[in-house]
Amino acid sequence: MNRGALIVLILLLTLCPVSAKQDPFSYPMSTVILDAGHGGRDPGASASYSFTDGVVNESDLVLDITKRVFALLSIEQPSLNLVMTRLDDTYISLAERSKIAYTTALAPQSSPLFVSIHINSAQSREATGFEVLTKRQEKRVTFLDEHTPIQNIPLFAPFSALELNRLLNQRNLFVAKTFEDVLSSGMNTSRNRGIKERDLYVLNASRIPSVLLELGFLSNEDEARNITSPAWRQQVAFAIAKAVISCM
Ligand SMILES: [Zn+2]
Repeated sequence: MNRGALIVLILLLTLCPVSAKQDPFSYPMSTVILDAGHGGRDPGASASYSFTDGVVNESDLVLDITKRVFALLSIEQPSLNLVMTRLDDTYISLAERSKIAYTTALAPQSSPLFVSIHINSAQSREATGFEVLTKRQEKRVTFLDEHTPIQNIPLFAPFSALELNRLLNQRNLFVAKTFEDVLSSGMNTSRNRGIKERDLYVLNASRIPSVLLELGFLSNEDEARNITSPAWRQQVAFAIAKAVISCM
């Protein structure tokens, strides 16, 4: 080790004493990024039924649910910093959504969560139920680079990349299980399709604990009836807000 590297190491050890080495994802949650899938030129899934007013798009339905979650959490947990990746029907790339997640500055000793909200569609009109998607464990994440907000560096600096990936996977599994449990009781009319590990851009690139929810199938007529009902969307939003609070 050369003299320069040794000085940097001593400085890092001084700034980050061993006692400060706490799992960054075990701190109380301060920030929730709410991501309404699709939008603008990307409508996501779409369908048209006798009971709908023309074509209905996933992008509009998930924006409505996400706004409801935002409103519920604002009332229930006013101290949470809530960030929506989009507020209206505009297109945002997957890279931009993920960047919002990993560039949001966190309060000292606090942890974040990214929740992406989607509605499913399938070739088979018989497919039903909700599912909770989580990052594949073997997919490695980078935590520290030129985009990391300066406020967030102390959370990650004491750990190796390997340790951080292990801690992120551990937290992701807890988050996925919590969402599955809370949604299965809060959406008791929907079939629970379980937790699935998926290689999805926003889960891989958000660099923070994250979950992607597929809340039901627009391609199934019975579920489409639910999804297009504001009362059902409010019930689902309530379950999602409750799941977020259960992760705090
Ligand atoms: Zn979608």
